[in-house]
Amino acid sequence: MERRPALELASTIRHDGDGGVVDDLATVQGVTRWLRQQEDLLPAGIPAGEYTADEDLRLRITEVRRAVRALFARVVSPSPPSRADVHRLMPADRALTRLNAVAAVDPVTPRREQLRACTAPRCVRYFVKSHGRREWCKPSCGNRARAARHYRRRRQASESASASAGKTC
Ligand SMILES: [Zn+2]
Repeated sequence: MERRPALELASTIRHDGDGGVVDDLATVQGVTRWLRQQEDLLPAGIPAGEYTADEDLRLRITEVRRAVRALFARVVSPSPPSRADVHRLMPADRALTRLNAVAAVDPVTPRREQLRACTAPRCVRYFVKSHGRREWCKPSCGNRARAARHYRRRRQASESASASAGKTC
């Protein structure tokens, strides 16, 4: 998957693989770890590999993340935003103001037409749709979504079968 700073930041809220959502930036240690992992994405000269975060930085980063996710949700509309976001979206104009104040975040505008919210059950990720009919952020999400679709179809088929069987009785 293509890595871009704003996407990486938005993706720090993610599906935990077990029906829940994890936040990689919930703690100062988590922020330090995440920043160090992003060193290759940041402009040369920013020694992210040596940063140690504090609570103030954590709060500022998670605020930027709220703004990024709010704008992502707006960009993917009229498709629905990731469901984990619905209760924490900030108004888009406020999000823009917030982001304009943060020069370190790359502009998402040039690729906005390719941004999508993953439609797999319980997934909360955004991704850049790089080819064709891609609907999911990663293959395992595609497998989960197809399994859920298959299960729904089978259930509907068996329901309509038993309904028509009821009529003939
Ligand atoms: Zn996904």
